[in-house]
Amino acid sequence: MQQEHLFKVLVIGDLGVGKTSIIKRFVHQIFSQHYRATIGVDFALKVLHWDSKTVVRLQLWDIAGQERYGNMTRVYYREAVGALLVFDVTRAATFDAVLKWKEDLDTKITLSSRKVVPAVLLANKCDLLGLPAPLPKLDAFCKENGFVGWYETSAKDNTNIDSAVRCLVEHILVHE
Ligand code: GDP
Ligand code: MG
Repeated sequence: MQQEHLFKVLVIGDLGVGKTSIIKRFVHQIFSQHYRATIGVDFALKVLHWDSKTVVRLQLWDIAGQERYGNMTRVYYREAVGALLVFDVTRAATFDAVLKWKEDLDTKITLSSRKVVPAVLLANKCDLLGLPAPLPKLDAFCKENGFVGWYETSAKDNTNIDSAVRCLVEHILVHE
């Protein structure tokens, strides 16, 4: 018997960090410089044949416009089982906002009856950094702030996006 899961995963972080690009890359294998900031909430579905017994239907929830305010409504968070929290490695302010997003996530989802949901931190646009990447290691930061992992990603070059999602899904499956 195959087991099927439907997971609602939120993709959050400040405006322009690459949330929409990450979703498009992951779901449709495309990248463009120009994604219009659509208004409201949008989601994309990707089916993962996880292993011989497990199919995961991943619903990736994008936000547009609302991220300006640094928090989201409860409706958006409802039933979510995991999150990708994205910042832009070329803009420090977007990293400063990470903890605010994490707190929004933890308080709103806890209130809607779930325990703290797994969240993975994405240091996006790593293609724009020189090599070797001058990023500080975020291991300690993740441990202190309750992220299950972090990845340097690039939606443009398709770096580590599959790995980040895989890490998240592994943790979600453990929670199930
Ligand atoms: P959102 O507001 O968080 O949804 O961000 P978008 O996905 O709309 O991306 C904002 C801008 O950053 C767009 O011009 C994208 O093409 C660009 N962008 C997104 N991800 C990357 C990346 O990994 N590398 C580079 N170089 N640009 C990116
Ligand atoms: Mg967007």
